[in-house]
Parts: sequence; C-alpha cells; structure tokens
Amino acid sequence: MVDLEVKVLGGGREVGRSAIAIGYSGKYLLLDYGINFSEDDIPQFPQHIRPSLIEGIVLSHAHLDHIGAAPLIYSSYRVPTITTRLTKSLIGIMIEDFLKISGYYIPYEYNELNTLLDNTLELDLNESLEVGDFHIKLLNAGHIPGSAMVLVDVEGYKVLYTGDVNTIETKLVKPVHVDGVEADILITEATYGDTQHPPRDYVERELINSIIDTVDSGGNVLIPVFSLGRAQEILCVLYQYAPGLTVYYDGMVRRISEVISSYPEYINRYDLLIKALREFNMVRSSSERKKIIKEKGVVIVASAGMLKGGPSQYYAKQLSSNSKNSIFLVSYQARGSPGRKLLEFGVIEDGGSLIKAKIRWFDFSSHADSEGLLKIVGGLRGVKHVIVVHSEESVGKEFVSRVSSLDSSLKVYYPANGDVIHINV
Ligand SMILES: [Zn+2]
Ligand SMILES: [Zn+2]
Repeated sequence: MVDLEVKVLGGGREVGRSAIAIGYSGKYLLLDYGINFSEDDIPQFPQHIRPSLIEGIVLSHAHLDHIGAAPLIYSSYRVPTITTRLTKSLIGIMIEDFLKISGYYIPYEYNELNTLLDNTLELDLNESLEVGDFHIKLLNAGHIPGSAMVLVDVEGYKVLYTGDVNTIETKLVKPVHVDGVEADILITEATYGDTQHPPRDYVERELINSIIDTVDSGGNVLIPVFSLGRAQEILCVLYQYAPGLTVYYDGMVRRISEVISSYPEYINRYDLLIKALREFNMVRSSSERKKIIKEKGVVIVASAGMLKGGPSQYYAKQLSSNSKNSIFLVSYQARGSPGRKLLEFGVIEDGGSLIKAKIRWFDFSSHADSEGLLKIVGGLRGVKHVIVVHSEESVGKEFVSRVSSLDSSLKVYYPANGDVIHINV
C-alpha cells in the first residue's frame, strides 16, 4: 500500500493561484505555484511549503495563475523545474511583466526568476522523467500552446493533474485526449464545471458577423485579449474568416506571438497563425496608435484582456464615446476588473461616463465546460478519487455533484486551501 498526500496550497475553492503538492514518504512534488489577484488588484500568493522538502516543480503552462509564485522557491533552494520547451520560453516574459506591473507586492526579484530558469528542465509532451520517487510524464492539455497535464507515477500508483484543460479543438491547440490513460487519482480544474459552452464555430461566426456589421457602418472594433493564447486564437479566427479586414495587433501580444510562432510543433493551425501575424499589422509606437483610432472600419486586437492596463485600455477610452464603434470582449472577466464593469454597468471606471460604443461578450473559453470535464473523468481508466480545484465555490460544488452522479463509486473531494487529503492506494 502506498500512502499519498495531496496538499492544496492554492486553487482550493477559487480560480487561479494553482498550487498542489503531492507528498510521498516525506518529500513533495509541486504541481504549479501560481498567483491570483484580489479585487483591489493585489497579487495573492499560495501557502508556503518548505523548499527543502520539494523534489521538483512541474509547471503546467505559462499563465501567471500557474507560475507566478514559482520563483519564490528559489530564494533559498535549488530544485529542478520541469515544463515543456515552449512554456520555458514564455516563463521569463510573463514573470518579467508581472514584476514590472506588480513589483511592489512581489516577495521575489529578477534573481530568483533567473535561478528558476537556470534550473528548468525541458520535457516534451508524452515523454517521461524521474525526480526522486516521482515518475513524471506530460500530456497535451489543449488549453494554450505549450500547456500540459501532468501524470505522476509513485510506486505504480498514478495521479493525473489537469492544470487548465480544454476538450474542444481550437485554431491554436489540439484538444486533450485521455481515453485509456490510467490514473488512480484525478486532480481536475473546474473553472466552467457548471457551464455549457456554445459550439465554437457558432461563436466564431457570431464574432465575425458582429465585426462586419460595425466595420460596414464605418465604426472601429476593439477586441481586448489576454496576450498569451486568446490573442493568437482571435487573430487566427479573423484571418480564416475575413482575411481582407484591416487588423492591428498591439501590446504584449506582439512579443508573445513571436515566441509562440517559433514552436510550430505546439500549434494546431500553424499556417493560419503565421499568415495572420505576417499579413495583419503590428502596432509599433504610440504615435501609430493615435493614427489608428482616427481610421474608419478597422479591427484592433490588443492586450490586456480585462482592460487592466495595456494599450487596450487606451483604445477603449478613445473608442468609447462613439456609438458606431464596438468593444468585443472575448476573455474571462474577473470580478472588479474594468472589463467586468464595462459588461455590468457600461462604464470602464467607477464614476466614469457611460460608454456609447456597443459592448458584447463572446465565449472563446480555453477551458473545458462541464460536459468536457465529465468526459475526462469518464475516459480515464481506473480512476477512484477525483479532487476538484480551480473553480469558484458555487461552480465547484455543482461540478462535484455532477461527478458523483456520473459514478457513485468515485470518491470526490472539494478541498479548500490548506487542506491535506491522505489517500491509501
Ligand atoms: Zn488557470
Ligand atoms: Zn491557464
């Protein structure tokens, strides 16, 4: 019998701040060490774990809510960090940006980031590596380029951690495949555990039709995007359906797109991505920005996705007073973010004036919905324990009950941060 411990350091009953430690005979393998932001935009870190007890860290993908706290481990200790080649190339850019924007609140510096990068081992999808007693294999997660699920084998017992996962095909990444994968314990995200996403091709057409309506009437369209993943997905969609549109892309999107496009093996429709980046227009300066907003019938794809800073905020302010223009949101809008305020109250800032431009939200989620997540649970071989993380509390509770009714023999857990689950397998 193997006594495994699953320690939830972050991501328990909340979206983001993912941090799970798998313990075996006094040593731990850390799966992600991310952050999230409070409503006041202050970074929240996961619970502490003694670095000397960690054998290694596996980072599932390069979003900050999975990697933002990882350099902390390197203030006092050296362990291997394991991730895909593409994620390794993105970690530096994402964390440097985080340090630049939130540096005052971050308890580590560039030094720790560099030490992390120096100690990072690249592992290809479907390849394996041993770290202490932990045998690690990465599997495609279908979430963003470079994203991976982590399959951990301890003495023949297997734990599958989904990280963030998607079960539908998108332009950027192929969907996850778990059929036949063997796992005794599943640790799954459930961001949309109570939701059904509309069919993707329907959402794509809706977006394109809405853009064409605006452009035809002489208005401009702003699409605020997350710079890693959503930006490139939207550029691919625009190029596939309407290559003749005048499209500009701006912000951190530029640098991230450049990195991603050097890794064709992680991209589903690499042809579309390359053509979109080449034929659409990259914005290089603030004087160019000023010219663009005076044009008519253009589409601007710019970070940040929730209008928290970045050029999207500038464009939103400039375009908001004209009812011919549109702002189309395509990303998750966290509570308290300017994007959420725009959707709920039609203003960007508290006390700001009402926006005249058309506002609409489109569901381009890169997370599986309830049906997709249940397919993962049902597709695995031998799963006995399901641990639900990375979801808002009401969503997670609903998903737990859906998993339980799928198969009543499963043991389903919905831990809070700080909870430790002991499993004898
Ligand atoms: Zn996440
Ligand atoms: Zn993510």
